[in-house]
Amino acid sequence: CGIVGYVGSEKITNSVLIDGLKSLEYRGYDSAGVATLQETGVRITKTRGKVASLEDKLQRHQIPSSTLGIAHTRWATHGIPSKTNAHPHHHGAVTLVHNGIVENYAALKEELIQVGYVFDSETDSEIASAYIDYMYRQHHNKLDALVAANKAFKGSFAFGIIFCDDEDTLYAMRRNSPLIVALKDGASFIASDVPAILKYTKQYILLGQDEIAVLNKDTQHIYNLNKEEMDHEVLTATMDA
Ligand code: GLU
Repeated sequence: CGIVGYVGSEKITNSVLIDGLKSLEYRGYDSAGVATLQETGVRITKTRGKVASLEDKLQRHQIPSSTLGIAHTRWATHGIPSKTNAHPHHHGAVTLVHNGIVENYAALKEELIQVGYVFDSETDSEIASAYIDYMYRQHHNKLDALVAANKAFKGSFAFGIIFCDDEDTLYAMRRNSPLIVALKDGASFIASDVPAILKYTKQYILLGQDEIAVLNKDTQHIYNLNKEEMDHEVLTATMDA
């Protein structure tokens, strides 16, 4: 339902992600979660219920802020509202948050079980995380893996994605679900809607249909499925933070 992502020079993921999710709360949701890339690997924190409970949990477990993270509020479509079904989902090198519905997830799940993946949740989104990991293992290249996954997925998706072997880069990909990308003073942001970035900048771009964003703290590259780099008009939000 709500997506926020950050990569930047400052270790401020917790405040960017929690504030961002709060600004998207008006859309309604049943659970919330964040993933940050730490020196020890990816840390995922999830909870049923409110973003405020997630914020408490980050504090109680003393999860430090980092320079790369993604967050999500879930509106369940596949699987009951529960901590296990909450995002982010993680398999192998891939951690992601997902809005939308991967309609052919059952067929992809069969294929993944055949090659040894084991699943915890009932969500289409967990299948998507495993499928991208599977493609990464075959292609050994992140952009190629995302292109291959995009072509395999039917339905709708906006993904925010972290690869555990790339601490500098936030990835995003979308079809039929909205996602915006923003760049400001040594940081890149993604969000499912404009309010999540207004505290930092009013300038943003709309990620196009079937495009893949490769975002660093001071560079942004957006590709189509032929891996051609795409230009985008920079839009200015008319609302205030
Ligand atoms: N289909 C996914 C799920 O049920 C994503 C739901 C959403 O858009 O929040 O977990």
